[in-house]
Amino acid sequence: KSGYGQDGIYRSLRPPLLLPTDPNLSMVSFLFRNSSSYSHKPALIDADSGQILTFSQFKSTVAKLSHAFINQLGIKKNDVVLICAPNSIQYPICFIATIAIGAIGTTVNPAYTVREISKQVEDCKPKVIVTVPELWDKVKGFGLKYVMIGSEEKSNLFGNSKNSKVTWLNDLVKNSGNVSDWFPEAEIKSSDTAALLYSSGTTGLSKGVVLSHRNFMAAGLMVTSDAEFAGERDNLFLCVLPMYHVFGLAVIMYAQLQRGVGIVSMAKFNLEMVLRAVEKYRVTDLWVVPPIVLALAKNSIVKKYDVSSVRQILSGAAPLVKDLMVECAKNFPQAIIIQGFGMTETCGIVSIENPRVGSRHSGSAGMLVPGVEGQIVGVDTLKPLPPKRSGEIWVRGANMMQGYLNNSEATRFTTDKEGWVHTGDLGYFDEEGQLFIVDRLKELIKYKGFQIAPAELEGLLVSHPEVLDAGVFGLPNVEAGEIPVANVVRSPTSSLTEKDVQKFIADQVAHFKRLHQVTFVESIPRSPAGKILRRELREKVRSKI
Ligand code: AMP
Repeated sequence: KSGYGQDGIYRSLRPPLLLPTDPNLSMVSFLFRNSSSYSHKPALIDADSGQILTFSQFKSTVAKLSHAFINQLGIKKNDVVLICAPNSIQYPICFIATIAIGAIGTTVNPAYTVREISKQVEDCKPKVIVTVPELWDKVKGFGLKYVMIGSEEKSNLFGNSKNSKVTWLNDLVKNSGNVSDWFPEAEIKSSDTAALLYSSGTTGLSKGVVLSHRNFMAAGLMVTSDAEFAGERDNLFLCVLPMYHVFGLAVIMYAQLQRGVGIVSMAKFNLEMVLRAVEKYRVTDLWVVPPIVLALAKNSIVKKYDVSSVRQILSGAAPLVKDLMVECAKNFPQAIIIQGFGMTETCGIVSIENPRVGSRHSGSAGMLVPGVEGQIVGVDTLKPLPPKRSGEIWVRGANMMQGYLNNSEATRFTTDKEGWVHTGDLGYFDEEGQLFIVDRLKELIKYKGFQIAPAELEGLLVSHPEVLDAGVFGLPNVEAGEIPVANVVRSPTSSLTEKDVQKFIADQVAHFKRLHQVTFVESIPRSPAGKILRRELREKVRSKI
């Protein structure tokens, strides 16, 4: 009943999945494989602009843009296209058109500072950056080719003058010729790289997670297997989670569109705007992160809107406590509140609660999706553990990353020879095959679901001339899940204050990475191998609290 086998492996209790076997199938052909049978259905709705594209318009725009990428911008197979933009319906169009020609899409958080974006640019060497006028100042210094979302006539970004490096998205599509909806010939294998999404994984700095066409197709089918099994077709998803993150990109956008389910895109989270969009478009599925569940649970304005269309609220990317699920359910009596678990390295998905199986609001992250195997491995013994015993969660399946870009050492550290991805998360399966996430063994801090790599902040801290050593770790916080704090060793003559250190960091990082607290200490505890003992730092402060 738990899916636990004698070989120590947990297998999915869901009906098995048939993955496409054609080695030459691209995730874009797969995305549109059935779209002629629902060509007039809305695929993309922009909650901010009100623009709507049907599946046939979506497909023909992607086709036109992919021709334009080749003919007008000279993008070739394996070239990297970086998207630095907020959510819009143009986001998936640019991403999918990139991949349609065998190029590689990479995404970056538009809230990042120039310093943070340039780290990624240096690592994955994009040929083109897709952006919006509001972010021009952040990206113009890279001196690449740019695609600007929007139309030149409506913008006065460059006044009356032209910028030869910049092509406007509307012009690219308009000037692509009469291509109807056929795609350029591109020799793509399903094992080819489709995307590079950045994650710090279990340790160190942010790395490019290499995801193949097959990874996206597998994850898409895995995520939607319950809906497919139940024959649900009339869903409409809200995508307010950023499309630069695997949750917005693979789990919501790609997974839903590939089965003919539409997406309402929203650039920024604002509770009233979410509720208005739910009411206006009759959204059925709100897939969000715990802070949004918190807002949906605690705010009385929810009652002012008609949210009766919502059938499912799913939370992922960070732990959700069960009390919050119960509270949220009160505001959404027609909806089921469930949880899922995944990571960038698993193309976003490992487990998901099945609304039709198991007890309600248990705090579980659900059962393994079909095609994913799991192990719970003793942290000290490295032996597989039976139900109800906690250990590190290892997972394997067709959705697992190909490795980290330019970093074979980190790849070897995370994916072992048998293909198991060591998640760095601590958890257990119960006797019914439900996975519970207990804690995080890895360094990663998650602020409202956003990744913060302690190693990055520590690197910045020690770059200050008056800082000798530093250790960064996360503390629990009701609203954000975790907040980043630092222990800092000052040089003997330094008179740095907490505020000075906080400002020093704040000037260099995106807002969610700012340090909430800085404590000056004598030393930072380290292992004999020199690794910072972050858990020790964290437990010390936690026990004081
Ligand atoms: P990311 O690669 O940004 O998606 O981060 C993945 C990490 O987020 C996982 O390894 C977990 O540590 C955490 N995470 C994701 N979903 C959950 C969940 N439902 N409960 C607890 N932690 C989660």
